[in-house]
Amino acid sequence: MSEGNSFFGPVDPAPDAGWVGAPERVGFFTDTSVCIGCKACEVACKEWNGVPSSGFDLLGMSYDNTGALTANSWRHVAFVEQSSSAGSAGGAAVAAQVVGDSGTEPGVPSGDAGAAVRGAGGGEFLGMPGSGPPGRLSGVEERSDFRWLMMSDVCKHCTHAACLDVCPTGSLFRTEFGSVVVQEDICNGCGYCVSACPYGVIDRRAGDGRAWKCTLCYDRLGAGLTPACAQACPTESIQFGPLARLRERAEERVAVLRERGVSGARLYGHDPGDGVGGDGAFFLLLDEPEVYGLPPDPVVTTRDLPRMWRRAGVAAVAMVAAVVASFVGGSS
Ligand code: SF4
Ligand code: SF4
Repeated sequence: MSEGNSFFGPVDPAPDAGWVGAPERVGFFTDTSVCIGCKACEVACKEWNGVPSSGFDLLGMSYDNTGALTANSWRHVAFVEQSSSAGSAGGAAVAAQVVGDSGTEPGVPSGDAGAAVRGAGGGEFLGMPGSGPPGRLSGVEERSDFRWLMMSDVCKHCTHAACLDVCPTGSLFRTEFGSVVVQEDICNGCGYCVSACPYGVIDRRAGDGRAWKCTLCYDRLGAGLTPACAQACPTESIQFGPLARLRERAEERVAVLRERGVSGARLYGHDPGDGVGGDGAFFLLLDEPEVYGLPPDPVVTTRDLPRMWRRAGVAAVAMVAAVVASFVGGSS
């Protein structure tokens, strides 16, 4: 493997990093429209990778008890509780194919004008959810218009990974599969990668100091196995495979959802022309990226490094020339 690495633009990252005869790039497509929030992915990840527990406390505002991607949470299932228009709630339910005629299923019957008015008010704090949709126990007239957006977040395995670019020890490296992996035994805990990641993914472990994150189950890939989270997901919300095939499948899924009236369906991180050259782990979302805590337009933080070094070089040469000129001028 030779040295290499482009800082921007659409590339195949494994050959770009110097891998010869690299296999086809693989990654994750996470379709949030079918996520049921069971957290099997979080558990499978922890179990396979020996990731320590992240505490057993509920956050007190949702069923999300891990809160974010951290050194001890390499998959994080976000629960976004959202009041929305009846149409949106219905859309999410249609996406998940759980809508029924009875009005007792998640979401609000589209004919409920009162709920639509409450939803249009927006911004309502919904508090800690009970064991069913709001209003299920008190009757439909008390039901607020509401939907849950659930999303299993993970390291994006960026085409241009700033974490890897800034690592001074070579602890972070590009694998032959196109993923980004930390070798914890040579991480010195400097934390450069933490501030470089545009998604806030990589994190240092308290009491350990070293950086940890998803490896796309590098050991399993080497043995021809599917990553543990994708293997465990009961709804195939997390799909693993060759990235090109996943991108095609994702486009088809968005088209189907839009045809069914889910106008908010969109892809995130799939575009090789974006600021990170596209992600190895991309998503189908039902709302704006910010709603899920994702940056709307991420840019690899090392994109401008070559230009900065060129300018610094020009400035240094100019300074040396000025010093030499002043000596020569002074002695003559
Ligand atoms: S998401 Fe962050 S940690 Fe993951 S590869 Fe990209 S820059 Fe690195
Ligand atoms: S992604 Fe799959 S395994 Fe993870 S919470 Fe959603 S449905 Fe469960």
